[in-house]
Amino acid sequence: MGDPSNYIRKRESRAENGQTRDLSYPPLPSALVVACYDNHAHLEIADGDDPLDYLEQLDMASSVGIRGIVQVGGDLETSRWSAEMASREPRMLAAVAIHPNEAPAYEAAGTLDEAIAEIDELAARPRVRAVGETGLDYFRTDEAGRPAQHRSFEAHIEIAKKHDLAMQIHDREAHDEVIETLLRVGAPERTVFHCFSGDAEMARLCADNGWYLSFAGNITFKNATNLREALETIPRDRILVETDAPFLTPLPHRGRPNSPYLIPVTLRFMADHLGTDVAMLAAQITSNTELVYGSWDAEPVSQGGSPWDAAIDPSELA
Ligand SMILES: [Zn+2]
Repeated sequence: MGDPSNYIRKRESRAENGQTRDLSYPPLPSALVVACYDNHAHLEIADGDDPLDYLEQLDMASSVGIRGIVQVGGDLETSRWSAEMASREPRMLAAVAIHPNEAPAYEAAGTLDEAIAEIDELAARPRVRAVGETGLDYFRTDEAGRPAQHRSFEAHIEIAKKHDLAMQIHDREAHDEVIETLLRVGAPERTVFHCFSGDAEMARLCADNGWYLSFAGNITFKNATNLREALETIPRDRILVETDAPFLTPLPHRGRPNSPYLIPVTLRFMADHLGTDVAMLAAQITSNTELVYGSWDAEPVSQGGSPWDAAIDPSELA
């Protein structure tokens, strides 16, 4: 079992609709023959009865052919953690941002500008290769919080451009507004719709603009016809795959803790749906992923082991 000090967040054990979840990890799938990546995961969040820590999760992912992950932050604490971990773990690159659902709280506290300034500093650190997740969320944030979201989103776009980093977009029920913002202010060169949630028409528009679509485990869900149609619609060179671990676990394990080692389940589903070979799709996505984030080996880790080994207080990581 994982060392409980190796997390900084804990996921609720109940599903949102009040139903009980199966809190055990799904079994290891068979290994991919051609390696692939998970371009969006949150390994700082403990989940399940017996949470696996980041190292156990990375080792399991390695054992099934997942070469690396992008560890994504959503507030200052998790962004600091992500940058720090990536500087110590060769299989991790980091993304840093204030999540659109966190922006209103920083704004209310009068600290949004300060927080964005720190994200700008973190973005300059080695092995931080993306700004994210940023964007707009009209599902969880009501009218009153939206001006802060918009301001934060535009500031994050500027940070991504300034540092020539990729950008990972969180778009929930705000498709038109996200696209309008990107077209108006100009999207970073490498822009990824994390957990793409639009339809085929939106997918085409994104691909036409040179943006990437990252598919998560929910593409396997029965009602996700829009995502499967989106996948079919876009050129293969726009496709990425992610877990969004510990969330969005693919069928047949829906509701259980998710982890980067489950990428093969989603990838096989996607290949099957496209009627293509898994190895071919994995090779294509690997190439796409490296074009977006650069190589995991391009910048060496600066120090070994976990920041916890050095007895660093995670809240002081910066
Ligand atoms: Zn996420």
